[in-house]
Amino acid sequence: MDLKNLSIKKVHEAMINGEFTSVDLVNEYKKVYEEKNGELNAYLEFFDDAIEQAKEADEKFKDGSAVLMTGIPVAIKDNILFKGHKAGAASKVLEGYTATYDADVIKKLREAGAVIIGRTNMDEFAMGASTENSAYGPTKNPHDTSRVPGGSSGGSVAAVASDMALVTLGSDTGGSIRQPSAFCGVVGLKPTYGSVSRSGLMAMGSSLDCIGPIGKSVSDVEAVFETIKGKDEMDSTSIPDDLYEKKNTKKPVIGVPTINYPKYKGDEQWDLASNENLEKAVKKFKDLGYDVKTIELPNIRYSVPAYYVVMPAEVSANLSRFDGVKYGLHKDGENLIDDYFKTRGEGLGAEVKRRVLVGTYVLSAGYADQYYYKAQAVRDQIRADYKKAFENVDVILTPTTAGPAFKIGEKINDPVAMYLEDIFTSPANMTGLPAMSVPSGAVSVNGKNLPLGVQLMASHQREDLLFKVGKEFLGEK
Ligand code: GLN
Repeated sequence: MDLKNLSIKKVHEAMINGEFTSVDLVNEYKKVYEEKNGELNAYLEFFDDAIEQAKEADEKFKDGSAVLMTGIPVAIKDNILFKGHKAGAASKVLEGYTATYDADVIKKLREAGAVIIGRTNMDEFAMGASTENSAYGPTKNPHDTSRVPGGSSGGSVAAVASDMALVTLGSDTGGSIRQPSAFCGVVGLKPTYGSVSRSGLMAMGSSLDCIGPIGKSVSDVEAVFETIKGKDEMDSTSIPDDLYEKKNTKKPVIGVPTINYPKYKGDEQWDLASNENLEKAVKKFKDLGYDVKTIELPNIRYSVPAYYVVMPAEVSANLSRFDGVKYGLHKDGENLIDDYFKTRGEGLGAEVKRRVLVGTYVLSAGYADQYYYKAQAVRDQIRADYKKAFENVDVILTPTTAGPAFKIGEKINDPVAMYLEDIFTSPANMTGLPAMSVPSGAVSVNGKNLPLGVQLMASHQREDLLFKVGKEFLGEK
């Protein structure tokens, strides 16, 4: 089977015409998984019941109830619950935990007949930008195995990029779908906050988290998004499809912000390749007949610092539930409090502990005014910047990352360097706006072709504009 050039639409047509079945297709992905996963470590598990699910999907083709997603294999990030299957957010603290209910996205995918084939590697509890923070070893970039795939959804993205999956789900709190998508040359969407239910997603930063699709084309990502979105009564922050007003836009106007980002250790956190690549993308849009305007977003340079206050605050609250009593790992201490200390001490990794400590600190009496509330005020300013920008443009174009995939080990001992990976991506989470990374060129480094991406952002619930513009950019029909 030509997995490289497969799309959801092609699979659907082939299944309707009886060219192959869902069972055939799942077996094909399983074969690639067996060949490649040993080296890439994109999956933590290929589910035993995948073939069973595929058989059910094939029945739907026989009885005429199949829809576009029926029989489509989907791999999910290890922080999404699929009833009866292990889920661990790539953390030792959840060792042995089995999901007791389905995430809303799983319910919706299964209702449509999609086949959930496995769970993918990630940074522990989605904290990181390289997948090196997994308790189960790093995932490798399929384009150069000495490099990271990005993170935290590195497994989901590497699986798509190496044809171990057609489409996958990731989660994005500060860039975890888009940054790895750029590093691995695929399409990744962070939807509008609330448009996809968070029920059954292990919470990291509840005001920032979004589940979103990853695929090889904008159309595939769109098809998955259309299936998983929608108001869900189990998530009070989820929103109805028509919450935001949509203005009529014939030919979207593209805005490119002037970049004025902070330096770190005296250097610009900015790779020339990424800048050149952006210029090429601008030219391409102009050639496609788009009006491209320069815009100002003066406060986005404060997005990373504010994100790294708001997010850990929420992390410290959300992760208190992993106490050795309710879920997964339990370590016996002298008494109950000692049980907590031991379980969390042994079960949680260094980056997770760092964030719990920072989060507890910024929320504590006497410091909250100085850090937490100030960060929330900055967040309001960033929101206001975008609101103003979207009065004049429809889609905002930036690079997705400041450069191509970095080496495994290069940033792991420098948290701030790792945090700066979120320069372009974190504003979408701080504002709840939808954003999508699409592949755009590559740079050659030591004989390896490393992909780059550009990010498209639109106003709330305007994923339709991202799909339209993204398809034209990639020349998709
Ligand atoms: N890199 C960011 C962080 O470490 C984003 C993570 C995410 O989106 N889950 O927090």
